[in-house]
Amino acid sequence: MKGLLVIAAFFIVAQSAKLFAGDQVLRINAESEEHIHLLQALEKQESIELDFWLSPVSSDLPIDVRVPFASLPAVKVFLESNNIPHYVMIKDVQELLEEERANMKASRLRESRAKSFDFGAYHTLDEIYSWMDSLVAGHPRLVTKVPIGYSYEKRPMYALKFSTGGSKRPAIWIDAGIHAREWVSPATAVWTANKIAADYGHDASVTSLLDSMDIYLLIVTNPDGYVFTHTNFQNRMWRKTRSVIPGSTCRGVDPNRNWDAGFGGPGASGDPCSESYHGPRAESEVEVRNVVELIKSQGNFKSFISIHSYSQLLMYPYGYKCADAADSVELDSVAQSAARALSSVYGTSYRVGSICKIIYQASGGSIDWSYNYGIKYSFAFELRDTGRYGFLLPANQIVPTATETWQALKHIMEYVRTHSF
Ligand SMILES: [Zn+2]
Repeated sequence: MKGLLVIAAFFIVAQSAKLFAGDQVLRINAESEEHIHLLQALEKQESIELDFWLSPVSSDLPIDVRVPFASLPAVKVFLESNNIPHYVMIKDVQELLEEERANMKASRLRESRAKSFDFGAYHTLDEIYSWMDSLVAGHPRLVTKVPIGYSYEKRPMYALKFSTGGSKRPAIWIDAGIHAREWVSPATAVWTANKIAADYGHDASVTSLLDSMDIYLLIVTNPDGYVFTHTNFQNRMWRKTRSVIPGSTCRGVDPNRNWDAGFGGPGASGDPCSESYHGPRAESEVEVRNVVELIKSQGNFKSFISIHSYSQLLMYPYGYKCADAADSVELDSVAQSAARALSSVYGTSYRVGSICKIIYQASGGSIDWSYNYGIKYSFAFELRDTGRYGFLLPANQIVPTATETWQALKHIMEYVRTHSF
């Protein structure tokens, strides 16, 4: 018995320490429709356990895939024998993960010594939640924590509300972290929350915005998934929710395929084991329902912004269809100016367009739902980078990412303020 326990313990430790050892992320540049079909067929081979960071949809777009160490020889032979251009972008995923973990540990130590919060570090859900309490405590007349419900695993979800008074004022919605592994998204949202609070009364644009409108900011939209990416023995690469799917051994729904907008259409999967599984029905995920209910009950949102990573894109509806949205000319011009404002900080370049046109058709997405619900200024960001680190963006890029993104957010918010009354 004791021996068995020792073996079991060893197995868990070995698994946790080496979950991604030797895994590589390959950048594939497909050159034809035929290449795309071959890669899509490869994607369906469950036994090789590929994790597509950017899916094969078009030969115009890069494809990034994490290949488990054991599958590398076969995948490389496959790509070479089909003459599909590719190169190694991340040589050893585990190495980056260990660096990330070491950085978090070091910053935690610095934070506890200095009794301060490091915006240039990644944090756990508990750390983010306790920081939110300190933000509220520091700005009691501006910031409140609005409980919007519980996640599938019964974690509380809180939106930060920035308001200078009034009831049901016109409002701006910003959510981050709906996809668990996109860590720079909640990290950017934390920085942004602090920036809004610090700038009110000092920055003319933020001040005049908050004198007439409210901002709601949901930093961690998928708390169960986020915790899962942080927990030892578990999976840093997790994307979905953690709900149990009846009749399947695979868990979780892609919460950005679960909104009631073209639900179940192209660009979402009906397979519970897929990373883009749309779920058994629209709004099956409580995390999505919680947001929908808050939006509907508040009833006066003028803008809805979702923050993802990665690829450096600023997008507007639609995703579930490629037809232009009625406001596409205006949305495009707002997004283009916002992307220019972003780029003015460090030169980071963004592509702008409708989801369907600049990435691919994807149904059940949040900003399509908000737009169809009547919230005209609906946008989605894909933050840094363009693939060098992908989801494993080093923490020293958090503050630069947030700083440049803020210029784009401010541009959109100012525009909404002057065009919503
Ligand atoms: Zn995402």
